[in-house]
Amino acid sequence: MIVKEIIQIGNPILSQKSESVKFFPSSEHKKIIKDLTDTMRASNLVGIAACQIWINKRIFVTEIRKTPTRDAKDIDVLRVYINPKIIWKSKSECTIYEWCGSVAYSKLFAPVKRPKKIIVEAYDQNGKKFQRKTDGLLARVIQHEYDHLDGIAFTEKVTDMRKIMSSEEYKKRIIQNKK
Ligand SMILES: [Zn+2]
Repeated sequence: MIVKEIIQIGNPILSQKSESVKFFPSSEHKKIIKDLTDTMRASNLVGIAACQIWINKRIFVTEIRKTPTRDAKDIDVLRVYINPKIIWKSKSECTIYEWCGSVAYSKLFAPVKRPKKIIVEAYDQNGKKFQRKTDGLLARVIQHEYDHLDGIAFTEKVTDMRKIMSSEEYKKRIIQNKK
């Protein structure tokens, strides 16, 4: 297993638009997907984009599972998105706390408002095109990762700066209150 260093904001690679992937599936892309998956799991993230590990290509992975800061109610398998497009967004929006492996190593939590439901179209690890309508945490993570491909970090979309929290305060106030 290879866990890559997750690049931190301020590094210009995170504000660049990633390039579309050509000629896949290939062993090169399988390796990128493996590295993304290993790094996401080792870092307790539920999604990660290729640019976060120095690869400027339009690829991200998601895996909604229980982590120290996410509960398990929206569980979803590992999914790969190559050259994704969000082809529809619901008008209704919701505000959810987000954080990011690339923002102070997941130590900064902040509320972000985004569409509740989306339809994403992408290619999977076998080069097969798929479409998926989704809501809940998966819809949220897809939109967050998709933004990375366009060079956007969630910190640009924080809806209320006064509600930013450190990970420790978030665990204390939000997670423990839900129990
Ligand atoms: Zn992120």
